[in-house]
Amino acid sequence: MDTTQSLRTRRLSDFKTTLADRIIVIDGAGGTVFQDHALVEDNFRAERFSNTGIDLRGNYDILNLTQPSLVSSVHESYIKAGADIITTNTFSSTQIAQSEYQMDEHVQEMNYVGASLAYEVVRLAEERDGRVRWVAGSLGPTNKTASMASDVNNPGQRDVSFNELKSAYEMAALGLLEGGVDILLLETITDTLNAKAAIVGIENAKNKIGLAAEIAPLIISGTVIDQSGRTLSGQTLQAFWISLRHANAVAFGLNCSLGHSGMKRHIAELSRLIPVPTIAYPNAGLPNEFGEYDESPEEMSGALKEWAEESLLNIVGSCCGSNPEHTRAIVDAVRGLKPRPLVAENLSSLSLAGLDVLHI
Ligand SMILES: [Zn+2]
Repeated sequence: MDTTQSLRTRRLSDFKTTLADRIIVIDGAGGTVFQDHALVEDNFRAERFSNTGIDLRGNYDILNLTQPSLVSSVHESYIKAGADIITTNTFSSTQIAQSEYQMDEHVQEMNYVGASLAYEVVRLAEERDGRVRWVAGSLGPTNKTASMASDVNNPGQRDVSFNELKSAYEMAALGLLEGGVDILLLETITDTLNAKAAIVGIENAKNKIGLAAEIAPLIISGTVIDQSGRTLSGQTLQAFWISLRHANAVAFGLNCSLGHSGMKRHIAELSRLIPVPTIAYPNAGLPNEFGEYDESPEEMSGALKEWAEESLLNIVGSCCGSNPEHTRAIVDAVRGLKPRPLVAENLSSLSLAGLDVLHI
């Protein structure tokens, strides 16, 4: 695969030109499509992990190694739906998340193969119709948090350290970068300190393989879980932005969260604040009593069309509970609508962020 620096530079420059020109659509959830296949334990294991001592069912990232053609077919279905950005099936492919399945030693390969599968589907689609798409390497939040205690009786206790997170993200990023991703998607951020560790880990990975810092830039996407508009670790959205703005993200925004109805005012706030493109890909509504998301493609795309008409969006898509039909509806809804114009940032000479922002 040709993943030389010049090819990467050209693909990235196409991405930035397109961002200035129109609203870009990112694909939807992989999990929803995998669930339609009613996979059983043997499907997750395949021959390779048939003797493993722990159940792998539900570990969708292991499918990169055990059911690669299924993963490719999910990517292909999003290409057919019209997505511009295809996200790798690597949300939980960190040593930290995979240690739950005793699969941590396979993490770099899971990321490499995950990136290669998505890149190949994109490459073939481009060959067919000449239209450029981009591969975003998904890096999820892990299942541990560096800034909060999991034991309420011991506020100083942490399940994971900054350095452990940094190394885990470095290894994941190495696999994704070597597999040819165009962008790294640091998504569903609940803890800003985890994200900061990821940023250092990613920098280290790029240094290790001699990739310039500006190649494979970050898209940073947090999640808010209540109407206060604070992240799970307690920051306001502006504090969240100030804490991570040094990473030079090519887009910044929110995903998952409370569905579109709970996310809109937060995206509106970010779109007033930040001088970079916004990204928004909410869940398909809120989970019902069975834990399923049932917002229809029409409902969701109708709402997101309004966001676009109000100039809130540069990149848009859908998260948990969505399928290629949601993507197709979103593509149709935002077609021809102008992307959000970038705003100048109104900061004083020194802006600091803890839970809130302090301008000096
Ligand atoms: Zn989600």
